[in-house]
Amino acid sequence: MKAVVKTKHAKGMEYKEVPVPKIGLRDVLIKVNVASICGTDVHIFDWTRWAQHRFTPPRITGHEFVGNVVKIGEEVTRVKVGDRVSAESHLTCGDCYQCNNGYSEVCRNFKLLGVDHDGTFAEFLVLPEHVLWKNDQKIPDEWATIQEPFGNAVDTVLAEDVAAKTVLILGAGPIGLFTTGIAKACGASLIVVSDPNNYRLAISKKMGAHIAINPRRQDVTHVVMEATKNNGVDVVLEFSGNNQALNQGLRTITPGGRISILGIYERRVNIDLNKDVIFKKIRIYGITGRKIFSTWYKTSRFLSAGLVDPTPVITHRFPLKDYEKGMKLMKDGKCGKVILNV
Ligand code: NAD
Ligand code: ZN
Repeated sequence: MKAVVKTKHAKGMEYKEVPVPKIGLRDVLIKVNVASICGTDVHIFDWTRWAQHRFTPPRITGHEFVGNVVKIGEEVTRVKVGDRVSAESHLTCGDCYQCNNGYSEVCRNFKLLGVDHDGTFAEFLVLPEHVLWKNDQKIPDEWATIQEPFGNAVDTVLAEDVAAKTVLILGAGPIGLFTTGIAKACGASLIVVSDPNNYRLAISKKMGAHIAINPRRQDVTHVVMEATKNNGVDVVLEFSGNNQALNQGLRTITPGGRISILGIYERRVNIDLNKDVIFKKIRIYGITGRKIFSTWYKTSRFLSAGLVDPTPVITHRFPLKDYEKGMKLMKDGKCGKVILNV
């Protein structure tokens, strides 16, 4: 089969012929139809400091996908041949303290698809049956593949309710953009989105942002305070991974409000804990992964019930062999989600 493989401890990947993987008793072989590129894949492609510490070549990359089950192991019971599936990218152990206490999103032994286990940028993929998600027939392939990052957005927004609340979204990458649609669907009364990338700000308007601001041109605090009659926002959702943006968020939260943080920072962050957190009595949520599988149910319903239309976020499509074009677009930021047709 053809696959995109990270073969060397260096920048780049290779599109090459590799053997179709074998299945174990509780595994499933999937023919991938559509995959999509995440920032993690770009880190691996570029061989950034994070990738050098976390990733061991050779390995097939990618963790977002939709495909059909073509073969099942003898003990598999959850799916059958022909089922159209996607998967939770955290391959959890099912038996650590967290898995046993309803926190499998922070499983102590999880393996990440496309990092610790061969990934989705390939014609075929093998996964253990317990991470598979059977897709709703109403959800087209291009929406099914983005359910994994969409799920990150769902958990960030819904750490608490947003109904009739005022919301500031920092960072309009694909996840911030899905978030905009989800916050709108959940009844947020004001949605302000900040990102230095004008291409993405334009998409945020289509996803339901009332105000889209470029922090290089406008003063975020000033715009938020004016729009909220000097109260500040009830909710801040952080996706930029930028310390300055985080501080803008903490400063513009109304006392008693909450912030959910999904963005990942390159270095330790610097915040004024006394002034911006403790004396304002705000609640901070760290968000990672997705609740398995409650977030997947919510994600599937947001999409299948027509509550959120992710179409404006899906901006580019390439055949798998042209994956490098997608990686370049992601680096330049002139895109939303990039789809790879396998
Ligand atoms: P992305 O890199 O595409 O988006 C980040 C956006 O932030 C970009 O559009 C960028 O222009 C913008 N940005 C940069 N500086 C800014 C600033 N000062 N103010 C406002 N915006 C600014 O990433 P994504 O795929 O949408 O993911 C969002 C974040 O979530 C990333 O940091 C990613 O690493 C992280 N993430 C975390 C998890 C998790 O499980 N915790 C999972 C997926 C992604
Ligand atoms: Zn576990």
